Amino acid sequence: MKRVMIGGFSHETNTFNPVPTELEAFRHEARYGSQVVSPAAPGCVGGFVTAMAEADAGLELVGSVYAAAPPGGSVTDAAFAAISAILLETLEREPVDAVYLDLHGAMVTESETDGEGALLERVRQRVGPGVPIAVTLDMHATLTPLMVRNADLVSVYRCYPHTDLAERGREVARLLCRTLRGEVRPVTALAKPPLLIGPPLNVLPQDLPMGLTYERARHLERTLPGVLLACPAQGFMQQDVPAAGVGVVVTADADRALAQRVADELGDLLFAHRREYWVRLPAAGEAVRLALRSVPPVSIADGGDNIGAGTPGDGTALLGEILRQGVDSAFVQLWDPEATARATAAGVGAVVTLDVGGKSHALYGPPVRLTGRVSRVSDPSQPVAAARLEVGGVTLLLTAVAVGPNTLDLPHALGIRPETYRLTVCKGGFAFRVSYPPSIYRYVLSATPGFSSTDLSTFPYRQIRRPLYPLDEI
Ligand SMILES: [Zn+2]
Repeated sequence: MKRVMIGGFSHETNTFNPVPTELEAFRHEARYGSQVVSPAAPGCVGGFVTAMAEADAGLELVGSVYAAAPPGGSVTDAAFAAISAILLETLEREPVDAVYLDLHGAMVTESETDGEGALLERVRQRVGPGVPIAVTLDMHATLTPLMVRNADLVSVYRCYPHTDLAERGREVARLLCRTLRGEVRPVTALAKPPLLIGPPLNVLPQDLPMGLTYERARHLERTLPGVLLACPAQGFMQQDVPAAGVGVVVTADADRALAQRVADELGDLLFAHRREYWVRLPAAGEAVRLALRSVPPVSIADGGDNIGAGTPGDGTALLGEILRQGVDSAFVQLWDPEATARATAAGVGAVVTLDVGGKSHALYGPPVRLTGRVSRVSDPSQPVAAARLEVGGVTLLLTAVAVGPNTLDLPHALGIRPETYRLTVCKGGFAFRVSYPPSIYRYVLSATPGFSSTDLSTFPYRQIRRPLYPLDEI
């Protein structure tokens, strides 16, 4: 019976965030052994296991480890070594016929600018050249030659928000089964046009101009014999690494020249539209003014403090403007453990004066001094300590840990219905539109300062390849 090892190691690293990501952060989502090999596993792995079971190819699935941490600063060497070691030990223990790894593609460690490349190289050294390695990656993967050289099958998410994970898992499972039956012999190639883009700019795969490249990739996959997978990856702008920027990885059947030709064509198409991805976004003051002119409810995306892109969540630029402009109905959520504790200690009904937010880094400050009435505090049984404060018409939700806007569980638990406010600040880029749907909200995206800013002059790049558009006019 043939054996397939399954594992995962996922982190989106914002190298400008000075707070390192420790091993502890990977306990956020950690599964081991047989827990990994479950059709009910979330994301790509669940899809992979389901498709493998359906294929009924008589394969034995060997679970190793799946570990994911929320986005943040560079992964410590100790965390990288610990999780890699579990994956490598599984391979050491029992020989396998194939490997499937669910990765992000934008992991940076204290000493590796290409975490996934370093991991895949070690896995390849362990299993040798004859064992196929299949990989799924996030749309915001920073593809590198080392990654692509050490993987035989690569699929990258194609939807934003990322709703196609299970489908990507099924896709590589089916191709890996065909590989193990000897029906195909996958080989990969990479194109790296000199272009930096990043969420949440003008880069949705369902919109123009980005849609042109995704459509063309799909078309080539369907119509060009021998092309198994053709996948653009957008990269992650908040990384100072040599490979920063977009990429295209193509998997073809036994024909590396074909894979390279298709990758180059798609890379050229991405690059040809380089001037259209970059749009000018309003600063905080202008964003609030624009939102007030729009039909409510309006959600303002705090572009520089996008928690999903690894930022602290305590940026005060928009809160400060909302108070300065006298907005009479707004909901703002802010990470501030100290203010949360003080409001909680004061208790429901108390009027408190606090300095909130702006404490993590100068870019996110200064703290805002305000006086408000504590109207709710979280139940000790709730997973996140939080306090709700009413400051005139502004509802402020203070939290002890940073909570992104992709779900509304926390506001709902404190009785907050964001859709009832004229303005809402979302510390996200785009993915939050799942919980703040376009059927209800209008959106303003703001170029606030921070580690996820869309203003490239914010970032002291030193290691990235040059020339690179738009830093260089090419
Ligand atoms: Zn992503």
